[in-house]
Amino acid sequence: MAALDAVLRNTLEKIRAADLYRTRRTVEGFPDAGSGAEVVVDGEPRVNFCGNDYLGLSRHPVVRAALIDAAQKFGVGSGASHLVTGHSHEHHALEEELAAFVARPRALLFSTGYMANLAALSALARPGDLLAEDKLNHASLLDASFVSGGRLKRYTHASSAALDRLLADSAYERAVVATDGVFSMDGDIAPLRELAEVCRRRQAWLVVDDAHGLGVVGARGRGSLEETAQGMDDVPVLVGTLGKAFGTFGAFIAGSEDLIEFLIQRARTYIFTTALPPAVAAATRAALRLADTESWRRERLRMLIERFRSGALQLGLTLTDSRTPIQAVVLGEPRRALDASAALYARGIWIAAIRPPTVPQGTSRLRITLSAVHSDEQVERLLAALAEAAR
Ligand SMILES: *Cc1c(COP(=O)(O)O)cnc(C)c1O
Repeated sequence: MAALDAVLRNTLEKIRAADLYRTRRTVEGFPDAGSGAEVVVDGEPRVNFCGNDYLGLSRHPVVRAALIDAAQKFGVGSGASHLVTGHSHEHHALEEELAAFVARPRALLFSTGYMANLAALSALARPGDLLAEDKLNHASLLDASFVSGGRLKRYTHASSAALDRLLADSAYERAVVATDGVFSMDGDIAPLRELAEVCRRRQAWLVVDDAHGLGVVGARGRGSLEETAQGMDDVPVLVGTLGKAFGTFGAFIAGSEDLIEFLIQRARTYIFTTALPPAVAAATRAALRLADTESWRRERLRMLIERFRSGALQLGLTLTDSRTPIQAVVLGEPRRALDASAALYARGIWIAAIRPPTVPQGTSRLRITLSAVHSDEQVERLLAALAEAAR
């Protein structure tokens, strides 16, 4: 057998030759010691237009203070899984507050959204059950199909008609349908009303992963279900993450009493992993209160989104059809996205180039994200830099 490094190097060369090589930049700090809209990278301040801290809560003083206070009381690590000794008062209170936020009987915390999605789908879809997913679903929902052993079938993006055909043409005892609420790379909202109607008619269970909708979308920040007026009868399983609009870390699944009790018995990514640090749960409680009460953050975001879209369209840029903070400029080949990203970086604007396999072949892009803590001036700078880079 060939030596490990020689084999890996061969693959690495191929990745590099295809312009798909990934590297990391290191955040050195925050120049304004404040909002997080600007970060120091390579010794220079750069405006961050590619994070997921949509409401600007990750560095909020109240959220930080909650983390520190709880760390003084509970320490750092939770010390065990939830079912052993890791479930603290802070976790429990956060679960109750998350359930109240999304108006469902129960919520269950997970360490990451990736693990919550593995849990939801592998607990509900047994080996051989049909698992229908939108073609543009987040990787964690697709990976969950391998863990569950379900029969994965993918339907055309955001097409309830394609889902209907798929279910009509398939024999199944049990079918689970999973979709992003807000699609992570395009920013569009799933047609939940239509999908829920198909699921009702075809007797399938609908799972919505609203990682990018919760806190942001809907007048009260209840996410894509609020936006499309769907409740628990329509979408029995709701997955949310805490590392995006809520600015902290972790995830949850919300639904009925029976769903949550079933997950506690059966979800392997719940049972066999250490509980989140209690201080992170405490910080999330503070962030959730801010996301709930400070609706000016959502209004501010909407203003910035409108300003950005009208400015970008004036520049002749083609944007995806999105009213959310995710605004994508699709450029095509990976090299074009890399070059555009580098040109913006040289102008103090940080937007990572998103390439396959994160997005389909031929749709490499700049995935621009806005945050309530971006200033008007920063958005104008972004537009000016895009105008120069486009030339
Ligand atoms: C980020 C994301 C996840 C994963 O959540 P983590 O907490 O980062 O693991 C899941 N689903 C979608 C749609 C996401 O964008």
